[in-house]
Amino acid sequence: MIELATLLSALRERFAAAVEAAADERALDEVRVAYLGRNGEVTTIRRSIGKLPPERRPGAGKEINDAVAVMEALLQERHAQLEARDVEASLEQRIDVTFLGTPPQFGSLHPVRRVIEDACGYFERHGFAVVLGPEVEPDYYNFDALNIPPEHPAREGFDSFWVNDSLLLRPHTSPMQIRTMQLHPPPVAIVAPGRCYRRDAVDARHLFQFHQIEGLLVASGVHFGHLKGMLTGLCRTLFGAYQQVRFRPSFFPFTEPSAEVDTTCPKCGGRASACSMCGGSGWIELGGAGMVHPNVLREVGYDPEVVSGWAFGFGAERLALVRYDVDDVRRFVDGDPDFFEQLA
Ligand SMILES: [Zn+2]
Repeated sequence: MIELATLLSALRERFAAAVEAAADERALDEVRVAYLGRNGEVTTIRRSIGKLPPERRPGAGKEINDAVAVMEALLQERHAQLEARDVEASLEQRIDVTFLGTPPQFGSLHPVRRVIEDACGYFERHGFAVVLGPEVEPDYYNFDALNIPPEHPAREGFDSFWVNDSLLLRPHTSPMQIRTMQLHPPPVAIVAPGRCYRRDAVDARHLFQFHQIEGLLVASGVHFGHLKGMLTGLCRTLFGAYQQVRFRPSFFPFTEPSAEVDTTCPKCGGRASACSMCGGSGWIELGGAGMVHPNVLREVGYDPEVVSGWAFGFGAERLALVRYDVDDVRRFVDGDPDFFEQLA
């Protein structure tokens, strides 16, 4: 056995030197054939095992196999070296204009921005104008003019960020309804997208800064059926032709009657009893809607006996959750490029 070990060790050394000296793939292959080929040196040694006493043959076979494994690894390593050297040399020699470069990374619109643009596009196609307004507003526009006087408990529900005693970050886009109606006599048809702020604890459904899309139509003869038609059309434009929409009776100070608007859960389609997104109800709430309260119309100088109107306010993040089947609103703001790439 000592003889075999010595023999193999010498063979490996010679082999390593020959591999190192091989200047190209062809020379390397010649080395491989000379040592590991069918009639190579290793085969010769392997054949000599037959002359050993039977009890020593398995040990000798293993020693040879180990040596072969080491030799094959050396071959691989040299092969990789030669290949890398060839690529480098060919790159130095010429500029290959057909060689694929690193593709540039393109950004894309944020999913919430896309939902807002598509919703605005839908209303614009129906003759609505898009209006934008300030994010810091007096309490008059946020509350008083919307039939929420100072002592009204609904004010508390908005959990506003106050800048001083009378100025606040708008908790909804509704101030734009008042600003528009004060500037323009009826009829008016607007949609107002924008950032809003509330002192909500951040969780899977809430952010303290979010986006609303608000719509307002005031003219003579406007009724609740128009509202249902427009909002059902909006949901089917954003989510697909078979999307279901549900109106639940509700209360808001600025509309009468009022409704909350739900749409079918994208995750379970309304079929699961234990759905992580809708809690098994099958519906996702999008926001509120209703017929503009006569007090609001009077406040801006409109005559509620002559004109009527409807308004709605949807959370844009909610629309994006439903559209992209995302169950946590925080995903939209945590800046994970992989997430946005999936939705692009
Ligand atoms: Zn569900």
